[in-house]
Amino acid sequence: MKRWIWWAFTVWIWGACRTPVPQAFSETSAPLFGVVIHGGAGTIRDLPPRVEEAYRKALNRARDSAYEVLARGGSAVDAVETAIRLMEDDPLFNAGRGSVRDAYGEVRMDASIMDGRTLNAGAVANVRFIRHPISAARLVMDSCRHVCLTCEGAEQFARERGLEMMSPDYFDTGALEMPEGFTKYGTVGCVALDKDGNLAAGTSTGGLSGKKYGRVGDSPVIGAGTYADNRTCAVSATGTGEYFIRTAAAHRVSALMAYAGKSLDEALRASIDSVGTLGGDGGFIGIDRRGRVSWYFNTAGMFRAYRLSDGRQKTAMYGLEQD
Ligand code: ASP
Repeated sequence: MKRWIWWAFTVWIWGACRTPVPQAFSETSAPLFGVVIHGGAGTIRDLPPRVEEAYRKALNRARDSAYEVLARGGSAVDAVETAIRLMEDDPLFNAGRGSVRDAYGEVRMDASIMDGRTLNAGAVANVRFIRHPISAARLVMDSCRHVCLTCEGAEQFARERGLEMMSPDYFDTGALEMPEGFTKYGTVGCVALDKDGNLAAGTSTGGLSGKKYGRVGDSPVIGAGTYADNRTCAVSATGTGEYFIRTAAAHRVSALMAYAGKSLDEALRASIDSVGTLGGDGGFIGIDRRGRVSWYFNTAGMFRAYRLSDGRQKTAMYGLEQD
C-alpha cells in the first residue's frame, strides 16, 4: 500500500514538472523601441523630383542614425539629439545651418529637449553662432539649474561648455533653390522610445522667416513645441509657433491622454484642431509609451519619417490622404 502511494506521488511530481510554465511577456518578446522625426510642415506639394529625393535621403539618414543609437541600447535622449544634430547640419532644413533670416538679416535659433523619465528639460532661444542648438539645450538640461537660456547668455554658456561656435556666413547657405510658392518651414524635431521604455522629445528651428523684436516661437517652450512624459507620450511640433504657445499644444496632447483617456492619435488631432480654430497651422509627430506612433497636420504636407524595432518604417512628405 505504502509503495503504491509513493509511486503515485512520483508520477504526479513528474507530470507537474513537465507542464509548461507560462513565460512573462517581457521574457519572451523584445521591448518595442523606435523613433519618429519631422522636418517641418507647410505648403509641401509637387516638389521637383530632385528636391523630393534630397529630402527623402536627409530624413532617412537622420531617422536611421537615431534608430541605430536605440538599437545599440542608447537612451531616447541620445537618439533625439543625434537625429536633430544631423538635420541642423543640413541646409535643407530651417534649423542650425539652414536657418532662415530674421527681419534684420540675422540667424536666430531656438531649440529644446525633454526627458520623459525625469521631466527634465533644457532650451535655448534666440541664439546665434551655435552650430548645434539642440546640444546646447541638452547641456542646459544636464548641467544647469535653469530650463531656458536666451541670447548672449545662452551663447556664452555654450562657448564656456566647449560647444562648436560658427561665424555668421556658415548659416543660411541657400544651397538648394526651392520651387516657386514653396514656403520654407523646415523646423526639425524628433521623438523616441528606447529599450528601457523611456521617452524623449526635441525640436530645433530658425523660427519664422522675417521675425522681429527678438521673437521666440514655440520650439524652445516646453509644453508648446516639445513635451515628453513616460506616462503618456513624447511629441514635437512645427508650424506657426504663436498658436502652439497659446494653446499649450504639446502639453495638451499629453494631458488629453492622461486625464481624458484619449489615444495618442486622438490627442494629436484635438490639439492641432485647437491650433487651427485660432487660425494657426502646423503639425505634430508623436510616440506613446507603448511605441505607437502618430503624426497629424493641418498644412498641405509635413516632412516626416518613422522606424520601429518590429520592422515597420515609413518616410512621407505630402498630404495625409496619401498615407
Ligand atoms: N514653430 C516654429 C516657430 O514658430 C516654426 C516652424 O515650425 O516652422 O518658430
